[in-house]
Amino acid sequence: MRSARTIFLFAAVFLLATNAFVRSVPADDVAGRAHKLQFSSIVIDTHDDTTQRFLSRVPFDLGKRNPDGSIDIPRMREGGMNGIFFSIWIDGHIMGPPAIQKALDQIDAVRQNVRKYPNEIVLARTADDVRRAHAQGKIAAMMGVEGGHMIGNDIRIVRIFSDLGVRYMTLTHFYNDEWADSSTDKPAHNGLTDYGKDIVREMNRQGMLVDISHVSDKTFYDALEVSRAPLIASHSSCRAVCDHVRDMSDDMIKALAAKGGVIQINYEKSFIDQAYKDAYGKATGGVVETINQFRKICGDDEDCFEREGLKLEKSLTDEGKLPHVTWERIIDHIDHAAKLVGADHVGLGSDFDGANMPEGMEDASKLPKITEALLRKGYSEADVRKILGENTLRIMEQAEKVSAEMQSER
Ligand SMILES: [Zn+2]
Repeated sequence: MRSARTIFLFAAVFLLATNAFVRSVPADDVAGRAHKLQFSSIVIDTHDDTTQRFLSRVPFDLGKRNPDGSIDIPRMREGGMNGIFFSIWIDGHIMGPPAIQKALDQIDAVRQNVRKYPNEIVLARTADDVRRAHAQGKIAAMMGVEGGHMIGNDIRIVRIFSDLGVRYMTLTHFYNDEWADSSTDKPAHNGLTDYGKDIVREMNRQGMLVDISHVSDKTFYDALEVSRAPLIASHSSCRAVCDHVRDMSDDMIKALAAKGGVIQINYEKSFIDQAYKDAYGKATGGVVETINQFRKICGDDEDCFEREGLKLEKSLTDEGKLPHVTWERIIDHIDHAAKLVGADHVGLGSDFDGANMPEGMEDASKLPKITEALLRKGYSEADVRKILGENTLRIMEQAEKVSAEMQSER
């Protein structure tokens, strides 16, 4: 009797232990692997509009956890994000010398704000700089100029921006500039003008990545033909999943990948979810029309555009005019592009602090969800590492190599 009870107790404990084992291991295994992968990888986001906050009248401290927005050092640390491209952006209607002046204000603001936290974040120019920062446990900060209008139609400014640390330039923003057509404006140049092609070559010579997010399809194909280095789409998603002109068609993604380029998936709700895009268009006339309205309210106060955007989004959502979009939509776009051209050609370009984020991806601290979702979909750890940052480092290295070749040809 005593021994029967002992056996019973022993069996019960064994069964409980086995059950606990069976229940917890599969879930914890993937979550555990994802956590380890995220926090050992170089995780680079190629498009963040946090720069506007540095110049805002509302005080913003990069080193403190903020109750709003998506990016600051504590939340980047929490999400394992250790590479960031701060976007240099001004409204596309500002051109000529005032555009250069304002771009320089922002470049200076990024450099000054980064230098406040030398133990946490450092300015980086090259892929090696990024790897060195990672080895030291620091975040690598880079800059991308979002719109060719900021060079004031003067190719020499490309060299000056490059010397100041700008590592990519988006050829246009929402409007055509003097030498390239935008996807959200009426064609005026049939893609890139001859001067625009010279600008692309100068960018190659400087080792500055040529960014084709925002540009018209014709500008994309022209840039692809002219550029000696692979192109980057710093923040674009897939038209096959959400039909928006800001996104890339499958043919464009294939052509980009065939020349070694990378599409960095944008998380903006209008670019990733068809129902949301349609409803937003119906309620507001679309993203460019909305920006035109904001200009009337904001003038040249860039910070105000962001504020107005969030306000409008919230009121339309509260009125039930916009459907809910959850973060898993981002995974649909990553998966679509990776299935189309391989994991070597896909990356992350959130548009944090400059766009409407889907539910569950409110800020940088949420990034490990992407890694876990990709592992659950069956992506290998090596492929996830590429998507998280290694692909971006690869095209930076390629751009640096092309630059060295072109400099020696002089
Ligand atoms: Zn943009």
